[in-house]
Amino acid sequence: MILSKKAQQIQPSITLAITAKAKKMKSEGIDVIGFGAGEPDFNTPENIQNAAIQAIKQGFTKYTAASGITELKEAIANKFYKDNGLKYNASQIIISTGAKQCLANAFSATLNPGDEVIIPIPYWVSYPELVKLADGVPVFVETSEANNFKYDIKDLEKAITDKTKIILVNSPNNPTGTVYTKEELIAIAQLAKKHDLIILSDEIYEKLIYGDEKHISIGSLSEDAYNRTITINGVSKTYSMTGWRIGYAAANEEIIKLMSSLQSHTTANPNSIAQYASVEALNSDEVQIEKMVKEFKSRRDYMVKKINEIENLSCTEPKGAFYVMMNISKTFGKKSNGCEVKDSLTFSQALLEKEKVAVIPGIGFGMDNYVRLSYATSMDNIKAGLDRIEKFVAELQ
Ligand code: PMP
Ligand code: GLU
Repeated sequence: MILSKKAQQIQPSITLAITAKAKKMKSEGIDVIGFGAGEPDFNTPENIQNAAIQAIKQGFTKYTAASGITELKEAIANKFYKDNGLKYNASQIIISTGAKQCLANAFSATLNPGDEVIIPIPYWVSYPELVKLADGVPVFVETSEANNFKYDIKDLEKAITDKTKIILVNSPNNPTGTVYTKEELIAIAQLAKKHDLIILSDEIYEKLIYGDEKHISIGSLSEDAYNRTITINGVSKTYSMTGWRIGYAAANEEIIKLMSSLQSHTTANPNSIAQYASVEALNSDEVQIEKMVKEFKSRRDYMVKKINEIENLSCTEPKGAFYVMMNISKTFGKKSNGCEVKDSLTFSQALLEKEKVAVIPGIGFGMDNYVRLSYATSMDNIKAGLDRIEKFVAELQ
């Protein structure tokens, strides 16, 4: 039987696969240290847990409106206004089963077959696959470590064709942690205006910034940018709520209406209990977030310093999110247990086999000279894991 050709072209999520593999090895008693995690290692704050329990007791356990409950849309509208200077009303907002579903809805609502979506390399694994699922064509723009992994505006313009529909912006960025400045975002918004393109802005790591950089929502930069931007965010990373599956998107009413219509058939409403918990999350003060950011910052600082002390490894300092892209290119051509390390996959496999350390090969993000390490794991794990990496690299022949 011939199954879906489209589905067969989609690669499963490598980030989720490696994280699951490391967890499984651990449950089998293997002393593995996982740097794969794409989620905060903290528990969901207690006030949010309690709001969910209360929602269950109050009977908020039924279907809700497919695009989400009004209370949460109001809390989201309030958040956008307060944090991002974006004025959206409830009819411009959709709540989905994670930001992932928002992205899937957004591509499906805007793309026609063959429409192109510009994505910077390195990219979060799911972007190209979600574009392909919506019959679009991912078009990649290279970035470089020297340019902090940001779009070079000239390269970005060169990638625009008469088929381009969307420019994707992800700041703070997964996997590089790069944070775009206001000026850089203005330049992207001007380009989008010049070529009449949609801007899709994934802002899920908004609150996880460790220095003086400020998160700017590109849609807030002008009326034109506002009108052509789909802003995506969610509670997963900010409130340690990855399992609750609540993300949200805001855009002009026409796009949100299409996204809501699609969602009404695929999953209908996101989990009702998680929606009520998210109202509490968005309305709570930022004390928990500040604590988490402080902890992530000290882990990041340790990790960056240590990596740069190891011969043949290096990294730049990520400004946000909770990942480090570690440059491994100087290890290529060397051997581990007789096997040549020649790319990110062979490096990751040899490291897991020899030292029981799980990292995500950069090829999953379109950059083969790197592996991604998440610092959403304890300082003890980070110290022990980096010591093992140091030993692994020192023993390469
Ligand atoms: N965008 C980026 C850049 C991410 O790293 C993630 C994490 N999985 C998501 C979107 C989706 O997050 P979620 O579906 O948990 O809201
Ligand atoms: N976004 C996280 C990551 O990049 C979670 C895993 C996923 O959804 O792909 O690791």
